[in-house]
Order: sequence, then C-alpha cells, then structure tokens
Amino acid sequence: MATNPSSEFVVQFWGVRGSVPSPGSETVLYGGNTSCVEMRVAGKRLIFDGGTGLRMLGKNLQSQLPIEVYWFFSHYHWDHIQGVPFFAPAFIEGNTFHIHGTAPEGVSMAQHFNEHVLHKNSPVPIKEIKADLKFYDLSFGEVTTLGEVTVATSSTSLNHPNGAIGYRVMWRGHSVVYCTDTEHLPDRLDKNVVELARDADLLIYDAMYTDEEYNNPKSPKVGWGHSSWQEAVKVAKEAGIKQLAIFHHEPNHNDDVLDQIGVQVKEAFEGGFLAREGMIVSLL
Ligand SMILES: [Zn+2]
Ligand SMILES: [Zn+2]
Repeated sequence: MATNPSSEFVVQFWGVRGSVPSPGSETVLYGGNTSCVEMRVAGKRLIFDGGTGLRMLGKNLQSQLPIEVYWFFSHYHWDHIQGVPFFAPAFIEGNTFHIHGTAPEGVSMAQHFNEHVLHKNSPVPIKEIKADLKFYDLSFGEVTTLGEVTVATSSTSLNHPNGAIGYRVMWRGHSVVYCTDTEHLPDRLDKNVVELARDADLLIYDAMYTDEEYNNPKSPKVGWGHSSWQEAVKVAKEAGIKQLAIFHHEPNHNDDVLDQIGVQVKEAFEGGFLAREGMIVSLL
C-alpha cells in the first residue's frame, strides 16, 4: 500500500560516517559515506548536511523532479559538505533548495555557501548549478516554520571546533533531533544538547568513539569535538527519548567493531541502535 506523503514522518540515512569517507570491504554493512540524513515529513523534504551520502540521495530523487528541498547544515567541515557538488538535482533547472545554516560572523549564508561550500577546488564547476538557491541565515535558538512542520535549533553552539548547530524537527507531537559533531562535557551533561533532545521520538547523535578510545592515554580524543556512545546513552536517558541513533561513525570502525558496539548500546539503552547507510526509520 502506498503511503500518503502528506501524512508520513520518515528518516532515511544516506551517509552515517564521520570525518572522511571510508569505502571498502570492511564497511559494507554500515556504509562509508559521510553525514547526510533525509527527513520526509508532512509532504516536505528536509535534508540535513551534504556529506558524500548526498550523491546517492540525488540519484534517488531523479525520478521525482522537480523537487523543493529544505536543507539544513550543522556546520561546514568537509565531511558535511563534500557531496554538495555531486548532488545531481542542483544542476537541473526547476528545483528549489532552501538552504539554512549559521554563517561565520559578518558573513551571510549566501556568501559563505558560494565561497566556501561551493569552493573553487570543487571538481565540478559550480557555475553549472541551475537549481534556485534561496538562503536563510540561522541564529542559535531560532525556530523555522515550514507549514505544519517546525524546525528548532540548539540554544547555543554545539561543543565542536568552529562550532555547529543542532536541529529538532517537530510535527503533530512527534520529534526527531539531529545533533551531530558535538563533544560531551567532562563533568556534566550538556544542557544545550539535553534540552534540544528532551522527550524526542528519535535522537540522532554523534557518538564517534567508545569511552575507551576517547580516554585512551596513548591517543586521547579529548578536544576533538566528538562524543562517545556511552555519553549518548546518558543523554538519551536524561532527556527521556524513545530511540537513539548512534551516528557519525569513526572511519576506522569496521563492520565487526560497529556490530559489537551495537550490542553494547542495545544492552545499555533498549531504544538504541547504530545508524546504517540506507536505513529508514518511520516515526508514525
Ligand atoms: Zn563531522
Ligand atoms: Zn565537524
């Protein structure tokens, strides 16, 4: 039975890896593409970040053109923008992208996107872009309304080098939180993150490391801007969320390692699971 798009709330993971694409025989199960998540809610299409997973999303959308996309960037590290020049619908007239994000102080989102996301080092000439690009500068704590859908943002920057912004998508009492590229605090839970995630149906959270890796005295990851799955579970419990998607996997974590982490996550939090490329979660 076909679902009516105007009454669905679906999350689809197109890229779940952090930092750098990690293709190969050891990452087949979870996927090697970097951060890109699509949400289809109340007939609207939202995209979070533009890592290399975006390329496959673009291919998938080819049969549905023209499209109108509401696009939200957490920040602009390469693993969140590298797919942008390979998003096929951008090069086709008639498509509209509403591009949201925080730009560095003194610069508009339009200028930032055109100069830095669409960088001259891109292997694809960006002047070929034919889609209608509309830009929206976001502030921390700002709320955007898209018809019946509400998108709230974290009240302050996430704890990440150069900063990042978290998002909460709400519709008819359901909510999904996209909170990636954030490091937990050393001595307490991050109120900014817990409040964003409060009572959500699904929290998608950066849990790149295990606690053991994060605190490894030989190669600590303190200050790198990422959290651990153990800290993700603490946030999930404190915020009272239903489901927790461990996201932004460390590129050196192969399928076996992630399988093992998945078992531990499940033991620690019943609604916890590891995001996988291609995975679809329906909220209704
Ligand atoms: Zn990242
Ligand atoms: Zn980052």
